[in-house]
Amino acid sequence: MPVPSAPARPDGLPDHIRHWIGGEFADSAGGAVFDVIDPVSNTRYATASAGGPADVDKAVAAARAAFPAWAALGNRERANILTRIADAVEAREDRLAEFESFDSGLPITQARGQARRAAENFRYFADVIVALGEEAFRVGDQQLNYVVRTPAGVAGLITPWNTPFMLESWKLAPAIASGCTLVLKPAEWTPLSAGLWPEIFTEAGVPAGVVNIVHGIGEEAGQALVDHPDVPLLSFTGSTDTGRHIMRCSADGLKALSMELGGKSPVVVFADADLDAALDSVIFGVFSLNGERCTAGSRVLVERPVYEEFTRRLAERAEKVRVGPPSDPATEVGALVHPEHYARVLEYVEIGQREAKLVAGGDRPAHLPEGNYLQPTVFSDVPRDARIFQEEIFGPVVAVAAFDTEDEAVELANATRYGLAAYVWTGDLRRGHRIAHAVQSGMVWVNSHNVRDLRTPFGGVKDSGLGREGGAHSIDFFSESKIVHVML
Ligand code: NAD
Repeated sequence: MPVPSAPARPDGLPDHIRHWIGGEFADSAGGAVFDVIDPVSNTRYATASAGGPADVDKAVAAARAAFPAWAALGNRERANILTRIADAVEAREDRLAEFESFDSGLPITQARGQARRAAENFRYFADVIVALGEEAFRVGDQQLNYVVRTPAGVAGLITPWNTPFMLESWKLAPAIASGCTLVLKPAEWTPLSAGLWPEIFTEAGVPAGVVNIVHGIGEEAGQALVDHPDVPLLSFTGSTDTGRHIMRCSADGLKALSMELGGKSPVVVFADADLDAALDSVIFGVFSLNGERCTAGSRVLVERPVYEEFTRRLAERAEKVRVGPPSDPATEVGALVHPEHYARVLEYVEIGQREAKLVAGGDRPAHLPEGNYLQPTVFSDVPRDARIFQEEIFGPVVAVAAFDTEDEAVELANATRYGLAAYVWTGDLRRGHRIAHAVQSGMVWVNSHNVRDLRTPFGGVKDSGLGREGGAHSIDFFSESKIVHVML
């Protein structure tokens, strides 16, 4: 059965997106707004309230007021509410997909999975918070030591524009499961889907003030949240430069930080690999989600004997990837999120043409004269010091290079400042393990990709971040642990 197209302009689009503070919609204190544009027409379709210190202050006050009762609620009661949130998210699957695709340029077929994934985050953390125990230690016959876990307080959540709703849910769920109340500052390029949270939380029975949303520009609303003295912990996902800045600002307040930052993840392909599977994986890894994926395999390192063949086949496949309107179910790469980001990606394509060999794409598709569209782009023979080898492009652009030995493969894989994900393709499983251990990254997939269990630690090393999210790691972040020593 053919999949129906999504409307190019979804029904029910708001013309203004407002803050949500203490269970009520609010405009900014001074009435400030910013324009929200879609990446196909690059014209304004709505305005959003542009928060500043006064709005953040109000939101933090609401979160503080809601904290004692929310923190005191039993884990089972909070878990029940999380489950109802998951139901409410799933009930909005179509609308969420249409909103996300329209606002961020994500192909509609890929946006359709986002509600299920976001709902799963709530179901999962509902399960975790009920199942998680607290540790106890007996010290000889004289002492019992036990851990008491308490919610850490008012959390600040700051999130990026790629898969915005799902990434918001990935922080919202563990924060409220742990008993924290919070202020969320969604990304300013994609505020539309965050506008669904108020009705979802209200329907699920989340008490007013537990979740507060302040929209706005990073340097204003985000900065006010970072600087707020009553916010002792910040969970941030975004670029490394912003993460570094937030860390500097958080030093005086000694804030707890979780930092999920950028990546330039390698895919290492050995000559003995299943090349068809590796090729499928490379295409998926760097071109799905428009290449705007933190774990994108954006550097492909191929063993010399299969380098020519693999690069040729990759270029052929890239040429066949369908670029088109985000609302068209046939589209595999949609429009890049924003004209500023599009210009930045195009600049990298230009730089790449001076640094390496362009073997696919490199331009706007001829049939799409308007909108932030780019042909899937492949560069081969990319030197390790090239900017397109070193810097995160965050678009449908991949750099390919050859290696001769296993040692060289590891060295090249580790030759950037990033260390988020890595992928290895080989017929020799022992070698797969060796590479997995030697590569500097928070996550490695061997003959596999995109399989993630929510219990496992998610995060990066080097410039890709600090701390881990997922499972008990997230709950630990949003909690304080106290040890009680008792004489027996
Ligand atoms: P960004 O750093 O520009 O913005 C992220 C968020 O930070 C936005 O909400 C923004 O408004 C806010 N912000 C900006 N300046 C701020 C300031 N001074 N104080 C407080 N908040 C501020 O990142 P982006 O362009 O939105 O997102 C893309 C980046 O995110 C890429 O580098 C990508 O790899 C990374 N990312 C990482 C992961 C991960 O899990 N590691 C996941 C998704 C995206």
